[in-house]
Amino acid sequence: MIVPVIAYGHHIVRKVGVEIDRDYPNPAELIENMKESMNNALGVGLAAPQVGKAIRLFIVDTSPFGADEELDDQERDHLTNFKKVFINAKILKEEGEEWAFNEGCLSIPDIREDVFRKEKITIEYVDENFEKHVEVLDGIAARVVQHEYDHTEGILFTDKISSLKKRLIKKKLENISKGKVDIDYRMKFPLLKRR
Ligand SMILES: [Zn+2]
Repeated sequence: MIVPVIAYGHHIVRKVGVEIDRDYPNPAELIENMKESMNNALGVGLAAPQVGKAIRLFIVDTSPFGADEELDDQERDHLTNFKKVFINAKILKEEGEEWAFNEGCLSIPDIREDVFRKEKITIEYVDENFEKHVEVLDGIAARVVQHEYDHTEGILFTDKISSLKKRLIKKKLENISKGKVDIDYRMKFPLLKRR
């Protein structure tokens, strides 16, 4: 089932997510709904707070980058198959040079900005079967995971840009909260006034 993506300005996307365990009611259904909603919105990642659940769960599917001809074959191959569920993730280490990548977010439609993040991460998490993994990621896979991980900390990519750029997009962000934005997927806007 496609569920609405909660827009910038709603308090839920600012909540720090709580860990879940096997007793969490029907995580499989939540994950399925999130996948459907992410794919429908042409996203490469979606975090539970963006669908109204302040828990430490996010999904990534970087397969759209598999068609990016700017990338080398090896990375395209990796990104085509990088589809995962991260539960209770902890970034254990972030290393390497900071590099800029133009990020967007399903909760913040129509805004894209260069964000600097470190190139390589070590992350520990459990998957949808609550099996534990520790992985080292770099490149765009790391980037998408860092962005989604931030969501489970209540952090948005627009928090990580310069204060000048923040000022420049302030009005646009207010408009998003009010639903004054053109989108072709379901969203929920905190300040939308219904007539
Ligand atoms: Zn996002």
